[in-house]
Amino acid sequence: MKIAMVGAGYVGLVTGVCLADFGHEVICLDRDADKIRALQDGIIPIYEPGLAELVKANTEAGRLSFSHEMKAAIGASDVVFVAVGTPSRRGDGHADLSYVYAAAREIAASLEGFTLVVTKSTVPVGTGDEVARIIAAENPNADVLVVSNPEFLREGAAIEDFKRPDRIVVGIEDERARAVMTEVYRPLYLNQAPLLFTSRRTAELIKYAANAFLAMKVTFINEIADLCDRTGADVQQVAQGMGLDKRIGAKFLHAGPGYGGSCFPKDTLALAKIGQDNDAPMRLVEATIAVNEQRKRAMARKIVAACGGDVRGRTIGILGLTFKPNTDDMREAPSIDIIRGLQDRGARIVAFDPQGMAAAEAVLDDVRFADSAYAVAEGADALVLVTEWNAFRSLDLARLKSLMAAPVFVDLRNVYRAPEMVRHGFTYASLGRPDAA
Ligand code: NAD
Repeated sequence: MKIAMVGAGYVGLVTGVCLADFGHEVICLDRDADKIRALQDGIIPIYEPGLAELVKANTEAGRLSFSHEMKAAIGASDVVFVAVGTPSRRGDGHADLSYVYAAAREIAASLEGFTLVVTKSTVPVGTGDEVARIIAAENPNADVLVVSNPEFLREGAAIEDFKRPDRIVVGIEDERARAVMTEVYRPLYLNQAPLLFTSRRTAELIKYAANAFLAMKVTFINEIADLCDRTGADVQQVAQGMGLDKRIGAKFLHAGPGYGGSCFPKDTLALAKIGQDNDAPMRLVEATIAVNEQRKRAMARKIVAACGGDVRGRTIGILGLTFKPNTDDMREAPSIDIIRGLQDRGARIVAFDPQGMAAAEAVLDDVRFADSAYAVAEGADALVLVTEWNAFRSLDLARLKSLMAAPVFVDLRNVYRAPEMVRHGFTYASLGRPDAA
């Protein structure tokens, strides 16, 4: 099957290469000519484990190619996926659909023969109707069906998630389209991944509902962690006790500094707006957004408190900047608010992240970047573990302490255990756990 992928970002690139790996002939298109040139030269613009190897293998096998020339590629394709960004619209938080609509117009002009246009981008309910309207207006003779096929992969585990999904959601109520989509995903279908066919609007809403629910779950345990702090209970045991209940499940019950990333913040905001626009307010989601927003600055206050109430002129070392491990993505990372909160109180910041420093440099001011956790510790008045990269899970604590000006360690991911840290002479703070047991 011939497939075009419009948008070669995190989702487009991973989806494109995985579909090529299934045996389809895939061309990834992006209007960013530099990105396409880099990909043509074998340079992968993002960090995602296993991606570079898979791109190389499929390019060499002749199943995967890259271009910024849309017309010929779209005309030759049976299926055109749209995987462009849908960021929050500046000012009001609605999903910005300008990239999706621009892509729809460009695709419309180039369609030849029966083609599916499949929206992978996360889009509000009813966007598929508008994409169909745009295509019909631009190219009234096009033999086209517009499908919703939201993506659920997680950055950092994207290839595994794509190849072993919990489910594939396909929103279209047309037999011809259903047959084509079944063919696209046949290898996964054979692996028993449930292919869930729904209406287009339902598929669009499933994606937002799933993301908002996960964001709510994270935020719930974060609030429980705060309550544990006030009451002496242990949030990790509370989470374990809750998670063993199969109706609840153990995942997404890890207390942390607040969710971030390219999806949860914008998708919760967009769902709240969709609810308001449809007179069905999403009050739980609205509360989740507000709680999470306040939490990131509250983490800065927690760090200041751990430093004795004042960080002016002190050096705070930050371990981990990306919104989660195994990605270089800095979009909406909690580290940004935490660092700004500390800088507002006069702290100097030194930081290290295994993959995210180039992206971090573009969004953070006045941060000194070091090349290891130990270089961060040198002369620091406190260390803060913000992102739980594996590289930070078994640090040489004696060495760290010997390098620091003051042995304060704030663990915003509950990676270490209080007794161990105290034994090494640290003043240790974490989330929702008795700090010195
Ligand atoms: P991204 O910003 O990494 O990539 C988007 C790409 O689209 C960019 O390379 C951009 O140059 C390109 N683009 C924009 N307009 C174009 C056009 N008209 N023609 C060709 N290329 C164009 O975004 P992403 O993180 O891959 O997210 C894409 C969509 O997938 C979003 O709607 C997002 O919500 C959704 N999603 C993302 C994730 C994730 O983990 N990143 C997971 C699931 C769903």
